[in-house]
Amino acid sequence: MLPTKAFAAPGPTQPLGPFQFDRREPGPKDVLIDIRHCGVCHSDLHQARDEWGGSIFPMVPGHEIVGIVQRTGAEVKGFKPGDAVGVGCFVDSCRDCPSCREGLEQYCDAGMVGTYNSRERGHKTPTYGGYSTRIVVDERYVLRIPPNLPLDRAAPLLCAGITTYSPLRHWGAGPGKKVAVVGLGGLGHMGVKLAHAMGAHVTVLSHSQQKREDALRLGADDFQTTADPQLFERLAGSFDLILNTVSVELDLNEYLGLLKRDGAMVLLGVPTTAPHVHAFSLIMGRRSLSGSLIGGIRETQEMLDFCGKHNIASDIETIPIQDINNAYERMIQGDVRYRFVIDISSLKT
Ligand code: NAP
Ligand code: ZN
Ligand code: ZN
Repeated sequence: MLPTKAFAAPGPTQPLGPFQFDRREPGPKDVLIDIRHCGVCHSDLHQARDEWGGSIFPMVPGHEIVGIVQRTGAEVKGFKPGDAVGVGCFVDSCRDCPSCREGLEQYCDAGMVGTYNSRERGHKTPTYGGYSTRIVVDERYVLRIPPNLPLDRAAPLLCAGITTYSPLRHWGAGPGKKVAVVGLGGLGHMGVKLAHAMGAHVTVLSHSQQKREDALRLGADDFQTTADPQLFERLAGSFDLILNTVSVELDLNEYLGLLKRDGAMVLLGVPTTAPHVHAFSLIMGRRSLSGSLIGGIRETQEMLDFCGKHNIASDIETIPIQDINNAYERMIQGDVRYRFVIDISSLKT
């Protein structure tokens, strides 16, 4: 057993604090990773506060993990000590269902094994995430970080990056396509960078004016605030694709009206309340409303390589783990430009 230092939420209403647990000894196909940085996703906060229900406590959140391979099992082929690697939102899946076979493990019929707030396949042992000093993961679920990307700024690619990359690819963002990104947070700012790099025309829809300059700097062609009551009329029928990254409920009917005929709005944010959608919002213009969950291992590696090629990484604010509770509060206020990333060396002292 490998004693591991971490920060955990003891329960849904308690702040995160120091916690210790054991990682398993690496098996023949496992990689032992010395964690260097871990991004702070809004999903960490939702789950640590049990906002979606069913949370497992104590919880060590964190699924935007980057680190250095320390040791590998005897049968590991793809990684060696010293490699820069990443682990995203899941660490296992059934490996045999149609989704797993197609490389869409996030939609595994048996349910993917989340990096945290989940249980190891076939066991009752809870999984613990990246707010910790090390992790042991089967090499099938480990990603390579391109050498030109700084590790800390690459961490958010493992969730925010792939969660926006996957729907942009699936719905064909590229030259001649107009894409709107609703909400300029962790996911949103990656969506802007990626859609821009794919050649799409990108508009940011933000709930205030404050992020205008940032949005344009990040690669947006246009910025609009949804605080402007005329917006929904002025931009009606404008977009081929809308990525909705907002973590609270919006009036989806208004946003659906911004789509062209046959356009699609993809829900990425997960508010705690159920949306109300009028059938006419979809019927008029044959529009669709869809959702998308992170991305499979193959596509996550493709996204990382795309980011390496285009020199894309996240805009971050680095924090020591001791600041995590304050970071959660600031995330709720929208006071982060654009991802908190934990320096895991703060756990090791
Ligand atoms: P985040 O960094 O907190 O960004 C959310 C953004 O939503 C904010 O920056 C803000 O953008 C907007 N927003 C927040 N509160 C708002 C309010 N009261 N009214 C209007 N807009 C508001 O969060 P994130 O990490 O990007 O995650 C976003 C959501 O995606 C979360 O619900 C998370 O759980 C979910 N998620 C889903 C997946 C998936 O696979 N589908 C993966 C990861 C995360 P503006 O200031 O620009 O309006
Ligand atoms: Zn996430
Ligand atoms: Zn499966």
